[in-house]
This record gives sequence, C-alpha cells and structure tokens, in this order.
Amino acid sequence: METPKDPTSIDNRISEGLTRIAIAMRSDEWSKAEKAGLKPTQLAILEFLAGRDSARVKEIAAHLGVSQPTATDSIAALERKGLVAKASAPGDKRATAIHITAEGKAAFGSVSPIETAAMEAARSLSPGEQEGLLLSLVKMIRHLQEADAIPIQRMCTSCRYFRPYQHSGAAKPHHCNFVNAAFGRNELRIDCRDHETADPATRAATWDAFEKG
Ligand code: SF4
Repeated sequence: METPKDPTSIDNRISEGLTRIAIAMRSDEWSKAEKAGLKPTQLAILEFLAGRDSARVKEIAAHLGVSQPTATDSIAALERKGLVAKASAPGDKRATAIHITAEGKAAFGSVSPIETAAMEAARSLSPGEQEGLLLSLVKMIRHLQEADAIPIQRMCTSCRYFRPYQHSGAAKPHHCNFVNAAFGRNELRIDCRDHETADPATRAATWDAFEKG
C-alpha cells in the first residue's frame, strides 16, 4: 500500500491522475452524446468524420481504439439515423468509405461547442501551465504512437507541413506550411483537420528538431 514514506513511482501517480481525468471526460462524453440522442462512440465517429471527406471502417476503428465490429455496429446505427452514409472509397471503387451527411454535421454541431468539465479544468491553469501541459501531452501521445499503442494522430509533430523552430523569437517559433504562417508553442494542434502525415524519415527528423528546439 502507498504511504507518504513509501510513495509509488511518479510515472504511476501520473497515470493515476490521468485515469481520474479520464473519468470526468467519459462523463462529459456521455452528457454531450445524450444531448444529441447518441451513444458516445457514435458521437466520436461523427466528430472524426466532421473533419474529413470520408474514412474507412478500419481507420475509424483505429482512431477510436475499438474493434472493427464495434465500429461497424455504431456506423450502422448512425446510417439508420441518416447521420452518415456509405460511398465508394476515393481511389478504390471496390472499397467502401463512410462520410458524414448534412444531418450528421448538424447533430455534431449542436453539441460540439458545449463547455465540458475537462475544458473548465484546463482553463483553471495559468497560461504557462497550459503550455507545459500541452507539450507534455504531445510528447506522451507521440510516445504512444511510436509504441503502436494508438494510431498516428493528426498532431503538428507528425504533419508534413510542420516546420519546428523556423523563426527566431519566442512568441511564434513554429511554421505551418499549409497556411504559410508562424505559430506559437501554445498553438500546437492535437487534432488538425488539415494534417497530412509525413513519411517516417521526415517525422523522425521533425521530432528531432522539435525536441532540440
Ligand atoms: S496543417 Fe495543421 S497539423 Fe499540419 S502543421 Fe499546420 S496546423 Fe499543424
């Protein structure tokens, strides 16, 4: 048992802390989904598809961290409600891709601006603490990607448009080639709709430059 004299390792306690936060976030997800008359997995699928033209079931399942049959069931429920539809996958007419319908966008839009308990908690941090936490999350997510625990997320650090520390000065050191603009450390994206995954060698070099910066 943990005592003040004999604490568990800090990595264990960080993991415990993240688990506590995940509980609040799950509750947030249920509240938002209920407002839209959906299950959390269904809402998460709409959120995933809202930033894309379409996606295959395999991609959706990987992003959500669920099995393909689970994703298929949720997609079928959304299709019955008219919130998503199937079509041929771009570049492969034999494969099926899922896209969000106008009704699906409206359902997602009706709940996406809702303030959550997790967002409120993040706002309670100082700007410096927020930036530090964002950077820590980027590093942890990147580690999980490298360990194949999660698929590559749409973060700046894995994007082919990202140029870390291209600019002198602390305010906006990074550069996004997609919009050709400088941006700050606190503007790093975790899930950017314009993200395009860089090839492995570029991702490794970008991460190196990012860490050294
Ligand atoms: S396109 Fe998005 S993910 Fe890529 S560098 Fe620009 S802001 Fe970051």
